[in-house]
Order: sequence, then C-alpha cells, then structure tokens
Amino acid sequence: MEPNIVEIINRVLRDVNSSGLTEPRVEVVDWDEDPQAISAMIYSTRDSTGQGVSVRANIPGADQLASVADQVQEWVIEENGPTNSNWPQCPWHPNNHPLAAQAVGDHGVWACPVLLTPVAVIGELPAK
Ligand SMILES: [Zn+2]
Repeated sequence: MEPNIVEIINRVLRDVNSSGLTEPRVEVVDWDEDPQAISAMIYSTRDSTGQGVSVRANIPGADQLASVADQVQEWVIEENGPTNSNWPQCPWHPNNHPLAAQAVGDHGVWACPVLLTPVAVIGELPAK
C-alpha cells in the first residue's frame, strides 16, 4: 500500500502543536515529477507561502518519517523566525542547535546531532 504523505506530515505536526507553534495547512499536490515520490505542499496560515514536501514511496517508514520531519522542521524554522530557530530544542544544547530527525531502526526519532542521542520518537515530543 502506498504510504499516505498527509498521515506522515500529521505525525510531525503533533510535535509542532505540542511545542505551541502554528501548524501549516497541508494540501496534497503531486508536484514531484519523480514517479517514486509522494508529495504535498504545506502552507503558512499567515500568507500563501508554500513549501513542498516530498518523500520516496519505496523507502522504509522510519526513513520516510525522518525525511518528512526534516522538511517540516525547515518550514517551522522559516515560519517562526529567529525565536524558534532551534526547534525542536535540544535538551542538552538549547542555544546551539535544534534536534535532528533521524531513522534509528524502525523508528523516526529526534536526536541531538552532536551526542547522536535520541530525545523522542517523532510525533511524541514532550509538550513544553
Ligand atoms: Zn544537542
């Protein structure tokens, strides 16, 4: 079964929401010409600025989740400006870098890019 990109995006948006940030509007737009890719657009609710999100349909679910989380993260940082440039915040280095989305085994996780230590499963970031 082809994975549903909106479901993957929504999982990442749980973390956006639990951090108290504004979620984008998601629209399914098959903009990626790669036949192996599934794609959508996420739009700012402030204006019509959109960003494409795309992931290959034939890679493991954990890799898809990590890839989508990485793309949504880019949007969140762009959208929320300098005050949230470290989203999601690294518990060990809150002023240095955001967490990085990674696939670890069967899970997509947010991990400290320096310590390579997972902080939370993507979609289950503890609320602030
Ligand atoms: Zn860190």
